[in-house]
Formats: sequence, structure tokens, C-alpha cells
Amino acid sequence: MVRKAEPFRIKMVEPIRMISREERVAALQEAGYNPFALKSEDVYIDLLTDSGTGAMSDRQWSAMMLGDEAYAGSKSFYKVKSAVKDIFNYDYVIPTHQGRGAEQVLFPHLIPQKGMYVLGNMHFDTTMAWIELNGAIPVNLVTEDAFDTQKEVPFKGNFDLAKLEGFIQEKGAENIAFIIVTVTCNSAGGQPVSMENVRAVKAIADKYGIKINFDSARFAENAYFIKKREAGYADKSIQEIVQEMYAMGDFLTMSAKKDAIVNMGGMIAIKEDKELFQAASASCVPMEGFVTYGGLSGRDMEALAVGLFEGLDADYLESRIGQVEYLGEELRKRGIPIQWPVGGHAVFVDAGKFLPHIPAEQFPAQALCNELYLEAGVRPVEVGSLLLGRDPQTGKQKKAGVEFMRLTIPRRVYTDRHMDVVVDALENIWKRRESIKGLEFTYEPKVLRHFLCRLKPIGE
Ligand SMILES: *Cc1c(COP(=O)(O)O)cnc(C)c1O
Repeated sequence: MVRKAEPFRIKMVEPIRMISREERVAALQEAGYNPFALKSEDVYIDLLTDSGTGAMSDRQWSAMMLGDEAYAGSKSFYKVKSAVKDIFNYDYVIPTHQGRGAEQVLFPHLIPQKGMYVLGNMHFDTTMAWIELNGAIPVNLVTEDAFDTQKEVPFKGNFDLAKLEGFIQEKGAENIAFIIVTVTCNSAGGQPVSMENVRAVKAIADKYGIKINFDSARFAENAYFIKKREAGYADKSIQEIVQEMYAMGDFLTMSAKKDAIVNMGGMIAIKEDKELFQAASASCVPMEGFVTYGGLSGRDMEALAVGLFEGLDADYLESRIGQVEYLGEELRKRGIPIQWPVGGHAVFVDAGKFLPHIPAEQFPAQALCNELYLEAGVRPVEVGSLLLGRDPQTGKQKKAGVEFMRLTIPRRVYTDRHMDVVVDALENIWKRRESIKGLEFTYEPKVLRHFLCRLKPIGE
């Protein structure tokens, strides 16, 4: 095998503090056994999120110097608009401060009546929230394969097409507000959607006269998976694949903090519907700001216009997704149960299988996150029953389909040596996994409790 290294050199570094085990023990106790409450200074390798945590390039930083005052008709805005036209071939763009800003502005115009359904492969949590806040009902119709962490399937983010059409027939097309195709499917572990699947979703949408929105945070990573895994795409460029896919949609909402590699930003883009653009523009002004900046500075838009193209670079994507695969493969070699194949931006460790002696209501994935922090100063994030919360009617703890610990890899930030540290640490924990204890609350907030709750190991 010929090994390849990162297609970049490191030009500027941020030193990280090598925090000792004693300090980590104290820091975690202080944080109430909730990694969200840790100071980032007390973290050695931060794998909490890939959102807004990417390293910008020299080109992005220098472009920022060109940013003008971001108000009416900003020239920085026109660079974003031109990039969007080149990449997606969509005519209209409204910048927003981040992805949820785009959802907030656009969705009211797509949901004319309360009680309508918004059908997705698997909705992201803020997306789900904005659907519900507009009185509609989000429905997830992802393939069952997404829930089988051991099944080797190339596109676990795909729609279950029979379920999609069945749902439309059952409820009536007039009750479907729109369809959201999330690429890659974040909530299913960054799993990709195939071109073939999107084509079939488009055929169903056309048959029933329903519009398609692409939730586009990881549009380039999804295209890379299509190039690698789907027949007929090996020789196409990432940009060609993106164009082919987006030709099947009507509009997009994007968090630019992921594949567009900026620290803050998002957008709405609309293929050709001028009336929708005008309506969304009118709501953008009071919500996000005037339509040529939408909460962003000229500098932010300059970095975004460059980042959109950098995210499409096939060599970069190979190294980026290669790093996630490397981490996944090394863990798998050691028998550590993970969602397989790995997705684009993270490795999801199946903490339910790792710690089968800890029941859901004692949060096995959170216990594993804490243990990994204690072991090596690595901060992962829980995506399991703690995140899921209680049933609002009965107050009973809900049980997650899979108790995941997510190791989220920021773009262009860590080297494979950092990944080795994570592997070694998890291997050590794997060997003494029976000794790890579950957790109980000492403070449980009513809403979005996973961010602010405090816990302690049971029996301590
Ligand atoms: C991150 C994300 C969002 C929300 O974007 P923010 O920039 O965090 O507001 C929406 N959808 C998907 C798929 C995402 O990954």
C-alpha cells in the first residue's frame, strides 16, 4: 500500500495544553460529568463537533481582507452568489448567520397550513425544531439499514422509497409541505445518500407535485461518497456530481460551518422560483438582516465564497474522509463496535455494545465519553438516550435506538497521530470496560437538558 499524507502544509499552529490526568479528574468533576461544561482549554483533542471548527486556509484568511461593509449590495455577497451559481446552478441566494437561520427564514413559506408533514430521510435537530415551530410534523423515512451498525451498506442515508410513497398515499399529497433530503444524513451518522436514491425521490416528488429542499451542510462529502461508491461516478468531478444532484432539487438550506469550512455562516439558495425568493427576502430582513448580508459580515462572506470551492477539492476530500476512515478502521481492528461503514464527518462508537452492563437510563454513551476524557483528554459527544430526553407526556426516559458516542473530526485541524491517541485510549478502556459505571442526575433541566445537566457516577 502506498500511503498518502494531507494535501496541505501547516502554516500557523495553536499550541494545546497537555493536561494531566489529575487535572482532568478535577475538571470533569467540576463539569458535573458533562463534557459540554468543560472549558475547551482543559481538552487535549476536541471531537465535540465538526461545526465551525475547521481550519481556514491562507486563501480564506487573505480573502477576508477584501470584505467590504456588509450592507446593501455588498461586493462580498456577489462573490457568494456567483459561487452558488457555479456550484449548484441556483439563481437566488440569501446569506444567513448559520443553518438554523436559513431554516427559520425559509420554512414558514413552505408550510402554508398547520398539521402538514415534512418528509425527510432523517431531519437534523434544528431542522426538526423549525418544522415543528411552524406547526408542521417532521417525519423520518430513512432506510432501516441506518439502524444496523454492523451492516455493510454503501448508502445508509437513503430514503426508504416504499415508505416515502406509502406515506404520501396514506396522508394525501395535499398534506405534504415539502421533502427534505439531508446530505449527508447527519443524524444517521453522516451516512451518504446515493444519486440513484435522489433520482427516485425526485420521481416520486414529481408524481405528487411536491418540492424538494436539500439540507446541504455536507453536500461535498456526500458527492465524494457517490464518486467512490456509486457505479458510473468514478470519473466525474465532485462539482459535476453536486450539479447533477442539485438539478433535482428546488431549493437548499445550508450550514456553511461544515463543508464550506467557515467558522460562522449559512444560506438559503433557490433554483428559480422568484416569488419564493421575494417572500423569503422579506422575512430575512427582520430576522437575519438585509438580504445581501443576512447576519454575516463582508469578511465572513469572502471566506465563505472561497470555502465553498475548497470543500469540493477531491484531494482534500480524500484526505478528510480518509482520516475518518482511518480512525474507524483502527478501532474496528481492535474489536471496538462502531457504525460501519463510517460516515463523512465522524466515527460513531456503539456504546450500548461497548458497555452492555449499563442500561439506557444510566447513559452508557455519556459514561464512555467521560471515560475517554479521563483517559486521554479527548472530548467526544453523546448521541443517545441523554440527548433524547424524556417522553413529554409520561416523563419516562426514552430509549435511543443506538447509544452512540460520536467522535467528530474537525476539518484540517488534527493529524492522524491525534487519531492514534484516540485509538490507544479507547483500546485501554475496552480492556477494562466492565469496571465503568453508569451515571445519574444531580441536576436535570427541563429542556435541552444534555447541554446543562449535571451527573455523577452511580454509587459515588
Ligand atoms: C449543522 C446542521 C444544521 C444546522 O446548522 P447550524 O449552522 O448549526 O445552525 C442543519 N442541518 C444539518 C444537516 C446540519 O448538519
